[in-house]
Amino acid sequence: MPSRQPVVVVGAGVSGLACARVLADSGLPVVVLERSAGVGGRMASRRVDGTVADHGAQYVTASDPGFAALLRRLAATGLAEPWATRLHRFDRGRLSSGGAAESGRVRWAFPEGMPTLAKHLARGLTVHRQVRVTAVQPAQRSWELVTTPAGAWAARALVLALPAPQAVELATGVPGLEEPAGTAARAVYDPCWAVIAGYPDAAPPTWRGVFVGGEPLSFLAHDSSKRHDPAGTVLVAHAGGAWTRAHYDDEPDEAVGALVAATARVAGRWAAEPAWTSHQRSRASLGTGPHPVGTVTVGAGHGGAGRSTARAPSSGPVSAGGVAGPAASAATRWA
Ligand SMILES: Cc1cc2nc3c(=O)[nH]c(=O)nc-3n(C[C@H](O)[C@H](O)[C@H](O)COP(=O)(O)OP(=O)(O)OC[C@H]3O[C@@H](n4cnc5c(N)ncnc54)[C@H](O)[C@@H]3O)c2cc1C
Repeated sequence: MPSRQPVVVVGAGVSGLACARVLADSGLPVVVLERSAGVGGRMASRRVDGTVADHGAQYVTASDPGFAALLRRLAATGLAEPWATRLHRFDRGRLSSGGAAESGRVRWAFPEGMPTLAKHLARGLTVHRQVRVTAVQPAQRSWELVTTPAGAWAARALVLALPAPQAVELATGVPGLEEPAGTAARAVYDPCWAVIAGYPDAAPPTWRGVFVGGEPLSFLAHDSSKRHDPAGTVLVAHAGGAWTRAHYDDEPDEAVGALVAATARVAGRWAAEPAWTSHQRSRASLGTGPHPVGTVTVGAGHGGAGRSTARAPSSGPVSAGGVAGPAASAATRWA
């Protein structure tokens, strides 16, 4: 019976979890399937040398009142904190604070790492981790999903809360998903090389984050300023999209060396020799330019193979704005 089938949300990043949260709160049965061992997706951190460091998203801002209220609730329990209002800029060899272009918005961070937000959203939800969805297909008044490890799920409605290229992989050629797959295929993402660098004996810099004009770097974060009891200074360097594209397959030593050198040009010579580094590269990090659909693609309410309908979020009964909700929309806009 389709009415007993859950809505299946693919992806336990903040979009998928915010979506699942709203659906569950409205009384629908919901299951979230996540391929990795943890939740949070691109809101990712890593424990290294005894500290937590964010290597994906660095902070969130809240333009949506609901999301702002959620952050205040998390702040009341110490899980979220206002991290910075005026971030620095580095242009033509000069480091300066803020400037006219600086938004001055409150940037929020999470002392235990960015996945805190996702972990909070996941509380009370049914999330199956280490389950990768490999195929979706319409069935009689429902959707069928195939997973690895081997498994099959039936869903009354399907939410693909994935970066567009991964949604396209699943949706291409699936009857009823032609339109959202075609729209998502137009999304363009920058890849990102990220380096976490530790300086146990260095005095902390006075700035919290620096927008860097001109590559290789695009952003430099003073990550340890987000932690309550930092063990020394930790910086996180994000490379820009063009540099990452050109160096995506570089040997890690080579890419890390180039990004540490670039970090020292921004932060000062003290940053040229970290005691340790850790790195991460991702093919789809940030969407560039106008995003045609956001990262949530929905197919619902179809009447069987050959007659199925699938709706893009802007028009569907389950939409990126309506269901993925404040966390998702805030997460995809950062300034
Ligand atoms: C380097 C970097 C820096 C960023 N900086 C910021 C910032 O400072 N502020 C900000 O607001 N945003 C920032 N962003 C963007 C922000 O991280 C994303 O917009 C946001 O996290 C996207 O959430 P999501 O849930 O839509 O997707 P994701 O976080 O990508 O979640 C998708 C989830 O789906 C899972 N998945 C994928 N395929 C499958 C499958 N087949 N089956 C099951 N599960 C699957 C993935 O494992 C993942 O957990 C940054 C991103 C990166 C990478």
